[in-house]
Amino acid sequence: MKQLPKHRLIIMAHPDDPELACGGTIADWTRRDRVTHIIVSCGEKGTWQKNDSPLRIADTREREAQKAAKVLGTKKVIFLRHPDGGLASNKTLSLELAALIRHLKPYTIVTHDPWRRQFHPDHRAAGFAVIEAVMIARDWHFFPFLKEIGLKIHRARELLLTPTDQPTFVNDVTQTFKKKLTAIRCHKSQLGQLPGWEKRITEFAQSTGKPAGFRYGEGFYKMRI
Ligand SMILES: [Zn+2]
Repeated sequence: MKQLPKHRLIIMAHPDDPELACGGTIADWTRRDRVTHIIVSCGEKGTWQKNDSPLRIADTREREAQKAAKVLGTKKVIFLRHPDGGLASNKTLSLELAALIRHLKPYTIVTHDPWRRQFHPDHRAAGFAVIEAVMIARDWHFFPFLKEIGLKIHRARELLLTPTDQPTFVNDVTQTFKKKLTAIRCHKSQLGQLPGWEKRITEFAQSTGKPAGFRYGEGFYKMRI
């Protein structure tokens, strides 16, 4: 039986996070499903050059994110423009995300694993905000005004965290791994700050895929909603 297309929603902190975290899986999904990216911050502090203007960087990074999304086959990228490096898992962000989840009605939601040992505090904050947003979107009595403005509850079927230290499943991205690398290359402003990125990402995909018997893999932790 032919499966109906699903809507997959990727919510990440910075413009290059979807491609780095799960670009192979996104490219695989877009062959039959609809994918939307929500980028919480424009990453305007993402430079090592002291004289760069954060305003210009934000603009460049939004363009790069649009280009990379196109390579993967994603139709829409939504920018929330929260301050880079200042993300907090607060009610404002969770509410914005919950409203968008009710509006977009995704089958799958993908975000950062906030419990993973990782350097960037924005990734943790975004991950926790998304988890809270999934709950607000799911139940009628959170923020009753959402109902008044016509946003009915929506229960996503899957909440997937990536990258993660404890994958509960691994996607085979052997077919789409090249596309992931092409999409990452669209983030030109960032590549100088990611020395040896291609080697590191390739080795990570190989080690993630290996236990599952895949040449390249991306691992996910599936949370119960
Ligand atoms: Zn990031």
